[in-house]
Amino acid sequence: MANRLFHPEDTLISVENEKIGGGNFTVIAGPCSVESEEQITSIAKEIKLAGANFLRGGAFKPRTSPYSFQGLLGEGIELLKIAKEKTGLPIVTELMSPGMVEKFVDDVDIIQIGARNMHNYDLLKEVGRIDKPILLKRGMAATIEEFLMAAEYIMAEGNENVILCERGIRTFENFTRNTLDISAIPVIKKYSHLPVIVDPSHAAGLWWLVEPLAKAAMAVGADGLMIEVHNDPANAKSDGQQSIKPARFNSLMNSLKEMAILQDKV
Ligand code: PEP
Ligand code: MN
Repeated sequence: MANRLFHPEDTLISVENEKIGGGNFTVIAGPCSVESEEQITSIAKEIKLAGANFLRGGAFKPRTSPYSFQGLLGEGIELLKIAKEKTGLPIVTELMSPGMVEKFVDDVDIIQIGARNMHNYDLLKEVGRIDKPILLKRGMAATIEEFLMAAEYIMAEGNENVILCERGIRTFENFTRNTLDISAIPVIKKYSHLPVIVDPSHAAGLWWLVEPLAKAAMAVGADGLMIEVHNDPANAKSDGQQSIKPARFNSLMNSLKEMAILQDKV
């Protein structure tokens, strides 16, 4: 179902007033974790001014260590809703189990399935039975084919609104947190009609690599980006080292707009 052979045109996904895929460039931004009302609403306002299309923020956090901050859980979802009310930005957030999908499906605009859950077939089937768009992240050791098969699990249940997210894979290189598989974007776009976005933040693990990788993603034809933005990265409860501040996000957005104009001219 994800194969372009049987569906030659790009899939276009509509969420509120936003369109994803089909030539649009969509930017999802926000903190790794929702930490407080003040934090999420202030970041939401700044990214909105800079031109972001969606607000991201984790309420349920699948952390590598069980002793790390696990998120504000249901309260985090409530704070995301307040930030949406104040800015109009639709919400993208991760849900980690089939029970959570049932509970929070009406509160969020796009459900994120994280890298660690790309192989959670019960969860994939559950989100396949609803009609909310799903942002599916590539597993950290998944091949492109396995990634597309995970999308297929969702689509086979009836939900065809899947957005794929390349977020870096594990390789022998350990300077960066993961290795951004830049070739995955044109490869997937050749074989699938689904929109493909790139998360340079989790790929790099380092804030100063976010801008060059974001530009590379646009240059190879990605349909958008997911970027971690935090007002105080040094004190962030998760992923501060890869988060950029709102001012830097604003200048990145300006560079991307210039790049988009140049691309159109060529
Ligand atoms: C995230 O988006 O904050 C996240 C946990 O990402 P990933 O699943 O790609 O590690
Ligand atoms: Mn994160």
